[in-house]
Amino acid sequence: MEGGGFMDRIERLRLLAELSTEHCELNHGPGTKGEDYPAVDYIVVNIGYKEDEVKEVSVRKLVIPVCAECAEALVGDEWTLLYCFLCGNNRWVSRQLAKLEYRHHVLWLRGCPECTKEFGGLYFADLPKEEGTVEFLVEEKELDPA
Ligand SMILES: [Zn+2]
Ligand SMILES: [Zn+2]
Repeated sequence: MEGGGFMDRIERLRLLAELSTEHCELNHGPGTKGEDYPAVDYIVVNIGYKEDEVKEVSVRKLVIPVCAECAEALVGDEWTLLYCFLCGNNRWVSRQLAKLEYRHHVLWLRGCPECTKEFGGLYFADLPKEEGTVEFLVEEKELDPA
């Protein structure tokens, strides 16, 4: 994979064109509406993993619109985002208040209490680092996933 270039051009243009009508898909807490948080960027991550030694689940792109507030939180040191890529459910964890020591900007979960009884584990535990690279679409910066 070449650095920062995994989004194909046409798709990128389409997403940029739609950005003005998108809203943040990250969790702003109970009682909030996505419509109140216009998206200013997308985060893009390649999702794909080995189910076992033989079967490889194909990579797809996960594109998530984010507002300015969330984009900032994603690159800061204060918050870690827990995001279930099976159902899209997500929440923020304050690193200061968390019992576990979080170092990452985003932890991708394969399954969460919202969509399954079975916790599938942390996605990045079995991934080569570059496959889990998260990047912003508009601003050309990358997050360190793990
Ligand atoms: Zn947001
Ligand atoms: Zn879920």
